[in-house]
Amino acid sequence: MLRLITADRVLPGPEGECVEDGAVLVDGTRVVAVGPCREVLALAPEGTGRQHFDGATVLPGLVNAHVHLAFDETSADAAALVETVRTASDESLRHAMGRRALAALRSGVTTLRDCGDRGGLAARVRDDITAGAARGPRIVATGPPLTVPGGHCWFLGAAAGSDRGIRDQVRRNAELGVDMIKVMASGGQITPHSPPSWTSQFDRDQLRVLVAEAERLGLPVAAHAHGTEAIRDAVAAGARTIEHCSWMTGQRSVRRDPATAAEMAARGVRACAASSRNWRTIIEKLPPEVAEQVYGRLPWMAERGVDLITGTDAGLPGSPFDDLAGALELYAHLGFAPGRILEMATVSSAAALGLGEVTGRLAAGRDADVLVVHGDPRADLGALADVCLVLARGAVVD
Ligand SMILES: [Zn+2]
Repeated sequence: MLRLITADRVLPGPEGECVEDGAVLVDGTRVVAVGPCREVLALAPEGTGRQHFDGATVLPGLVNAHVHLAFDETSADAAALVETVRTASDESLRHAMGRRALAALRSGVTTLRDCGDRGGLAARVRDDITAGAARGPRIVATGPPLTVPGGHCWFLGAAAGSDRGIRDQVRRNAELGVDMIKVMASGGQITPHSPPSWTSQFDRDQLRVLVAEAERLGLPVAAHAHGTEAIRDAVAAGARTIEHCSWMTGQRSVRRDPATAAEMAARGVRACAASSRNWRTIIEKLPPEVAEQVYGRLPWMAERGVDLITGTDAGLPGSPFDDLAGALELYAHLGFAPGRILEMATVSSAAALGLGEVTGRLAAGRDADVLVVHGDPRADLGALADVCLVLARGAVVD
């Protein structure tokens, strides 16, 4: 089925590209043409359904590259969250995960990466959506994250303490049908009695074993790394994305490593801050110099050529699935140009997930993942929350 969408402007994806009085022509699940209205109109056969959005912007569907569908963001605290995800039946968890994925889609997120689930359930939700049995965004699933026994998120069921254990767990995740492997290279925050965030959980050799086994199975690796040492080791071992990338060396100490950042830039290892819309509250609570240590890493990395991608850690208490826009405003606060932020949330994040030829930009041949919003998000990022239309692989989301 052909569908013609026209609006005041089309932003195809890359910063600086804009078609005034633009149009997008969709045939079934694919985009067939993008350009000025009169040119695209000439390509559309008689009888093509046309929708015009006055005062609106058409852009690629957004990418949230770091969520946890298995986590209930309405949990009172981390302990309650852990308890729920440990005890829920597969069926009820899978149902809740599908519901959260749909909430993300309705907000304009047409692709999300699940960065750690239980039992590979995100891949099952993905399969339901791909098969047309459920509606939702494209899902890139990592399965349960590899961690050490008793380590960060051990309760998701993928702890490994030896090289052999690491290889076995990577294979088990591959058998669950995952698209990537996630490893908790450093500690984190939500698991009681586990190593602190800045401490490495695996050493460089172990990470090399993990990456080699994943690569053998055709799976890229996403490494959760708050600690400077863990970041350095994960980059050296060949991780494709670094999650959080906080450069921590202790509870209140940060040491950004320019050599590692340069290596990330040179090799295209991307960083995902995995920062929710709660950034405002966090910044208000922190002394200014600490806030600079925490959030200043993002412009610092960007200045060094590290490609940043967008994720919210949705599922953690207070981080909803339907407010990527609120999380993106952090980057505007840090001085990033809106056009750049939009490119991060589309082109860059799709590329980081290996989907650069599939989605993340509006161009002929790409999947018809389309977001139409009132206003111009380049003038006000808040416009992203004012959704007129979402197409996911050509299907209208209502
Ligand atoms: Zn996470």
